[in-house]
Amino acid sequence: MIEVNEVKIQRILNPTAIDLGEFVINPFMGCEFACLYCYVRSNRVISKRNKPWGEYVDVRINAPELLEKELLIKKPKVVLLGSTTECFQPTEQKYQITKKVLEILNSHGVYYVILTRSPYIVNYISLLNKGFCRKIYFTINNMPSVFKQKLEPKTPGFDSRIEAVKMLIDEKIPVTPYFSPLLPLISDYHEIFQKLEKAQIIEFECLNFNLKNILIIIDTIYEIDPIIGEKYKKMFNDKDFYSYIMDEAKKDITKKAISAKKNFNIHIHSFGNFFENRYS
Ligand code: SF4
Repeated sequence: MIEVNEVKIQRILNPTAIDLGEFVINPFMGCEFACLYCYVRSNRVISKRNKPWGEYVDVRINAPELLEKELLIKKPKVVLLGSTTECFQPTEQKYQITKKVLEILNSHGVYYVILTRSPYIVNYISLLNKGFCRKIYFTINNMPSVFKQKLEPKTPGFDSRIEAVKMLIDEKIPVTPYFSPLLPLISDYHEIFQKLEKAQIIEFECLNFNLKNILIIIDTIYEIDPIIGEKYKKMFNDKDFYSYIMDEAKKDITKKAISAKKNFNIHIHSFGNFFENRYS
Protein backbone atom coordinates (compact mmCIF):
# COMPACT_ATOMS: atom_id res chain seq x y z
CA MET A 1 0.00 0.00 0.00
CA ILE A 2 1.45 3.32 -1.08
CA GLU A 3 1.40 6.13 1.47
CA VAL A 4 0.24 9.33 -0.26
CA ASN A 5 0.90 12.63 1.54
CA GLU A 6 -0.22 16.06 0.43
CA VAL A 7 2.63 18.46 1.17
CA LYS A 8 3.44 22.10 0.61
CA ILE A 9 6.94 23.03 -0.50
CA GLN A 10 8.95 26.24 -0.50
CA ARG A 11 10.31 26.09 -4.03
CA ILE A 12 9.51 24.20 -7.22
CA LEU A 13 12.21 25.42 -9.64
CA ASN A 14 15.46 23.94 -8.36
CA PRO A 15 18.89 24.51 -9.89
CA THR A 16 20.51 21.44 -11.41
CA ALA A 17 23.84 20.14 -12.65
CA ILE A 18 22.05 17.99 -15.24
CA ASP A 19 22.62 19.66 -18.58
CA LEU A 20 19.06 19.15 -19.79
CA GLY A 21 17.59 22.29 -18.27
CA GLU A 22 18.40 25.31 -16.14
CA PHE A 23 16.10 24.09 -13.36
CA VAL A 24 14.38 20.84 -12.46
CA ILE A 25 10.71 20.40 -11.60
CA ASN A 26 9.59 17.40 -9.57
CA PRO A 27 5.84 17.54 -8.89
CA PHE A 28 6.19 14.65 -6.43
CA MET A 29 8.71 13.34 -3.97
CA GLY A 30 8.77 9.57 -4.12
CA CYS A 31 7.75 7.16 -6.83
CA GLU A 32 5.26 4.32 -6.91
CA PHE A 33 7.26 2.43 -9.52
CA ALA A 34 9.93 1.53 -6.95
CA CYS A 35 12.69 0.42 -9.33
CA LEU A 36 15.46 -1.29 -7.38
CA TYR A 37 18.14 0.42 -9.46
CA CYS A 38 16.58 3.90 -9.19
CA TYR A 39 19.49 6.30 -8.63
CA VAL A 40 17.33 8.39 -6.31
CA ARG A 41 17.69 5.63 -3.71
CA SER A 42 21.33 6.69 -3.43
CA ASN A 43 20.34 10.25 -2.52
CA ARG A 44 21.32 11.17 1.04
CA VAL A 45 18.06 12.98 1.86
CA ILE A 46 15.94 10.11 0.58
CA SER A 47 17.91 7.47 2.43
CA LYS A 48 17.10 9.20 5.74
CA ARG A 49 13.37 8.81 5.18
CA ASN A 50 11.71 6.27 7.50
CA LYS A 51 9.82 4.53 4.69
CA PRO A 52 11.57 2.68 1.87
CA TRP A 53 11.74 4.27 -1.58
CA GLY A 54 8.73 3.15 -3.62
CA GLU A 55 6.32 3.03 -0.66
CA TYR A 56 5.37 6.69 -0.44
CA VAL A 57 4.54 9.66 -2.64
CA ASP A 58 4.50 13.24 -1.42
CA VAL A 59 2.20 15.24 -3.67
CA ARG A 60 3.48 18.79 -3.90
CA ILE A 61 0.07 20.36 -4.05
CA ASN A 62 1.25 23.97 -4.19
CA ALA A 63 3.68 23.27 -7.08
CA PRO A 64 1.52 24.98 -9.76
CA GLU A 65 0.98 28.08 -7.65
CA LEU A 66 4.72 28.34 -6.88
CA LEU A 67 5.64 27.75 -10.50
CA GLU A 68 3.53 30.69 -11.69
CA LYS A 69 5.40 32.99 -9.29
CA GLU A 70 8.91 31.58 -9.76
CA LEU A 71 8.76 31.69 -13.55
CA LEU A 72 8.31 35.46 -13.39
CA ILE A 73 11.40 35.83 -11.20
CA LYS A 74 13.76 33.14 -12.53
CA LYS A 75 12.72 33.40 -16.22
CA PRO A 76 14.11 30.02 -17.35
CA LYS A 77 14.23 29.11 -21.02
CA VAL A 78 14.35 25.31 -20.53
CA VAL A 79 13.44 23.17 -17.53
CA LEU A 80 13.74 19.46 -16.84
CA LEU A 81 10.78 17.49 -15.49
CA GLY A 82 11.14 14.28 -13.51
CA SER A 83 14.77 14.19 -12.40
CA THR A 84 13.92 12.49 -9.08
CA THR A 85 10.38 11.22 -9.55
CA GLU A 86 8.01 9.89 -12.18
CA CYS A 87 5.78 12.79 -13.24
CA PHE A 88 3.22 10.43 -14.82
CA GLN A 89 2.89 7.86 -12.05
CA PRO A 90 -0.59 6.65 -11.02
CA THR A 91 -1.00 9.30 -8.29
CA GLU A 92 -0.88 11.98 -11.00
CA GLN A 93 -4.21 10.71 -12.31
CA LYS A 94 -5.91 11.92 -9.16
CA TYR A 95 -3.93 15.11 -8.47
CA GLN A 96 -3.06 16.35 -11.99
CA ILE A 97 -0.10 18.33 -10.72
CA THR A 98 2.05 17.50 -13.76
CA LYS A 99 -0.84 18.46 -16.01
CA LYS A 100 -1.07 21.90 -14.40
CA VAL A 101 2.72 22.30 -14.59
CA LEU A 102 2.67 21.59 -18.34
CA GLU A 103 -0.19 24.03 -18.86
CA ILE A 104 1.72 26.74 -17.03
CA LEU A 105 4.99 26.10 -18.91
CA ASN A 106 3.10 26.22 -22.21
CA SER A 107 1.38 29.45 -21.30
CA HIS A 108 4.70 31.07 -20.30
CA GLY A 109 6.50 29.79 -23.41
CA VAL A 110 9.06 27.81 -21.39
CA TYR A 111 10.60 24.78 -23.11
CA TYR A 112 10.83 21.51 -21.23
CA VAL A 113 12.57 18.15 -21.33
CA ILE A 114 10.86 15.18 -19.70
CA LEU A 115 12.25 11.97 -18.21
CA THR A 116 9.65 9.24 -17.93
CA ARG A 117 8.95 5.53 -18.11
CA SER A 118 5.18 5.85 -17.89
CA PRO A 119 2.82 5.26 -20.84
CA TYR A 120 0.30 7.46 -19.00
CA ILE A 121 2.12 10.39 -20.64
CA VAL A 122 0.15 9.78 -23.85
CA ASN A 123 -2.92 11.22 -22.14
CA TYR A 124 -1.10 14.56 -22.24
CA ILE A 125 -0.39 14.64 -25.96
CA SER A 126 -2.64 17.67 -26.42
CA LEU A 127 -0.34 19.59 -24.05
CA LEU A 128 2.90 18.13 -25.36
CA ASN A 129 2.26 19.13 -28.96
CA LYS A 130 1.95 22.85 -28.28
CA GLY A 131 5.55 23.32 -29.39
CA PHE A 132 7.32 23.62 -26.03
CA CYS A 133 8.18 19.99 -25.40
CA ARG A 134 11.80 19.94 -26.47
CA LYS A 135 12.45 16.26 -25.78
CA ILE A 136 11.06 13.25 -23.95
CA TYR A 137 13.55 10.61 -22.86
CA PHE A 138 11.29 7.59 -22.55
CA THR A 139 12.92 4.81 -20.56
CA ILE A 140 12.22 1.35 -21.83
CA ASN A 141 13.77 -1.99 -21.10
CA ASN A 142 12.92 -5.61 -21.48
CA MET A 143 13.92 -8.59 -19.40
CA PRO A 144 12.52 -12.00 -18.42
CA SER A 145 9.61 -11.61 -16.01
CA VAL A 146 11.46 -13.30 -13.13
CA PHE A 147 13.92 -10.42 -13.23
CA LYS A 148 11.30 -7.71 -13.75
CA GLN A 149 9.32 -8.94 -10.74
CA LYS A 150 12.31 -8.25 -8.52
CA LEU A 151 14.03 -5.33 -10.21
CA GLU A 152 11.12 -3.13 -11.24
CA PRO A 153 7.94 -4.96 -10.20
CA LYS A 154 5.57 -2.01 -10.40
CA THR A 155 6.53 -0.35 -13.66
CA PRO A 156 4.31 -0.66 -16.73
CA GLY A 157 5.25 -3.54 -19.03
CA PHE A 158 7.66 -3.31 -21.95
CA ASP A 159 4.98 -3.58 -24.64
CA SER A 160 2.88 -0.75 -23.23
CA ARG A 161 5.94 1.50 -23.14
CA ILE A 162 6.84 0.64 -26.73
CA GLU A 163 3.28 1.46 -27.80
CA ALA A 164 3.46 4.80 -25.96
CA VAL A 165 6.74 5.71 -27.66
CA LYS A 166 5.27 4.85 -31.05
CA MET A 167 2.22 6.97 -30.36
CA LEU A 168 4.38 9.96 -29.39
CA ILE A 169 6.47 9.53 -32.55
CA ASP A 170 3.31 9.40 -34.67
CA GLU A 171 2.15 12.61 -33.01
CA LYS A 172 5.51 14.20 -33.99
CA ILE A 173 6.46 14.81 -30.38
CA PRO A 174 10.25 14.66 -30.00
CA VAL A 175 10.90 11.43 -28.11
CA THR A 176 14.05 9.40 -27.67
CA PRO A 177 13.66 5.80 -26.49
CA TYR A 178 16.14 5.29 -23.67
CA PHE A 179 16.94 1.64 -22.99
CA SER A 180 17.99 1.71 -19.36
CA PRO A 181 19.37 0.07 -17.48
CA LEU A 182 20.76 -2.34 -20.01
CA LEU A 183 21.57 -5.43 -17.96
CA PRO A 184 24.24 -7.43 -19.81
CA LEU A 185 23.37 -11.14 -20.05
CA ILE A 186 19.78 -10.37 -18.92
CA SER A 187 18.16 -7.61 -21.00
CA ASP A 188 16.42 -8.58 -24.17
CA TYR A 189 17.05 -5.82 -26.71
CA HIS A 190 17.20 -8.09 -29.74
CA GLU A 191 14.23 -6.69 -31.63
CA ILE A 192 14.29 -3.18 -30.27
CA PHE A 193 15.38 -1.57 -33.54
CA GLN A 194 12.60 -3.36 -35.42
CA LYS A 195 9.96 -2.57 -32.80
CA LEU A 196 10.87 1.12 -32.89
CA GLU A 197 11.67 1.46 -36.56
CA LYS A 198 10.42 5.07 -36.69
CA ALA A 199 12.69 6.22 -33.86
CA GLN A 200 15.56 8.39 -35.16
CA ILE A 201 17.91 7.08 -32.49
CA ILE A 202 17.83 4.71 -29.53
CA GLU A 203 19.99 5.46 -26.51
CA PHE A 204 21.29 2.71 -24.24
CA GLU A 205 22.66 3.08 -20.72
CA CYS A 206 24.23 0.08 -19.03
CA LEU A 207 23.59 -0.67 -15.36
CA ASN A 208 25.52 1.72 -13.16
CA PHE A 209 27.76 -0.37 -10.89
CA ASN A 210 28.51 2.77 -8.87
CA LEU A 211 25.05 2.97 -7.31
CA LYS A 212 25.07 2.84 -3.53
CA ASN A 213 22.84 -0.23 -3.46
CA ILE A 214 24.63 -2.11 -6.26
CA LEU A 215 25.46 -5.02 -3.94
CA ILE A 216 21.75 -5.46 -3.18
CA ILE A 217 21.02 -5.40 -6.91
CA ILE A 218 23.73 -8.01 -7.56
CA ASP A 219 22.47 -10.21 -4.70
CA THR A 220 18.96 -9.99 -6.13
CA ILE A 221 20.21 -11.08 -9.54
CA TYR A 222 22.15 -13.91 -7.88
CA GLU A 223 19.03 -15.14 -6.07
CA ILE A 224 17.17 -15.33 -9.37
CA ASP A 225 19.99 -16.86 -11.40
CA PRO A 226 23.19 -17.84 -9.57
CA ILE A 227 25.16 -18.33 -12.81
CA ILE A 228 24.44 -14.82 -14.05
CA GLY A 229 24.74 -13.52 -10.47
CA GLU A 230 28.28 -14.92 -10.22
CA LYS A 231 29.19 -13.02 -13.37
CA TYR A 232 27.78 -9.80 -11.91
CA LYS A 233 29.84 -10.33 -8.75
CA LYS A 234 32.91 -10.77 -10.90
CA MET A 235 32.06 -7.65 -12.89
CA PHE A 236 31.88 -5.68 -9.67
CA ASN A 237 35.33 -6.86 -8.55
CA ASP A 238 37.28 -7.31 -11.75
CA LYS A 239 37.81 -4.36 -14.07
CA ASP A 240 38.94 -6.48 -17.03
CA PHE A 241 35.90 -8.73 -16.75
CA TYR A 242 33.60 -5.71 -16.37
CA SER A 243 35.10 -4.14 -19.52
CA TYR A 244 34.89 -7.42 -21.40
CA ILE A 245 31.16 -7.95 -20.64
CA MET A 246 30.28 -4.32 -21.39
CA ASP A 247 32.28 -4.36 -24.64
CA GLU A 248 30.51 -7.54 -25.73
CA ALA A 249 27.13 -5.88 -25.13
CA LYS A 250 28.27 -2.84 -27.08
CA LYS A 251 29.50 -4.96 -29.99
CA ASP A 252 26.24 -6.86 -30.09
CA ILE A 253 24.12 -3.70 -30.11
CA THR A 254 26.36 -2.16 -32.77
CA LYS A 255 25.89 -5.21 -34.96
CA LYS A 256 22.12 -5.09 -34.57
CA ALA A 257 21.97 -1.34 -35.21
CA ILE A 258 24.05 -1.64 -38.39
CA SER A 259 21.90 -4.45 -39.68
CA ALA A 260 18.74 -2.41 -38.94
CA LYS A 261 20.41 0.78 -40.33
CA LYS A 262 19.54 2.66 -37.11
CA ASN A 263 21.38 5.24 -35.02
CA PHE A 264 22.23 4.49 -31.41
CA ASN A 265 24.38 5.62 -28.49
CA ILE A 266 25.48 3.43 -25.64
CA HIS A 267 26.68 4.78 -22.32
CA ILE A 268 28.89 2.56 -20.17
CA HIS A 269 29.68 3.82 -16.67
CA SER A 270 33.29 3.92 -15.55
CA PHE A 271 34.47 0.99 -13.48
CA GLY A 272 35.48 1.49 -9.88
CA ASN A 273 33.81 4.76 -8.89
CA PHE A 274 31.72 2.85 -6.36
CA PHE A 275 33.93 3.58 -3.37
CA GLU A 276 34.04 7.26 -4.18
CA ASN A 277 30.52 7.61 -5.54
CA ARG A 278 28.89 11.00 -5.48
CA TYR A 279 25.72 9.90 -3.76
CA SER A 280 26.94 9.81 -0.16
S1 SF4 B 1 10.31 5.25 -12.39
FE1 SF4 B 1 12.14 6.53 -12.28
S2 SF4 B 1 11.91 7.72 -10.40
FE2 SF4 B 1 10.49 6.00 -10.29
S3 SF4 B 1 11.58 4.43 -9.15
FE3 SF4 B 1 11.86 4.02 -11.35
S4 SF4 B 1 13.78 5.07 -11.87
FE4 SF4 B 1 13.09 5.91 -9.89
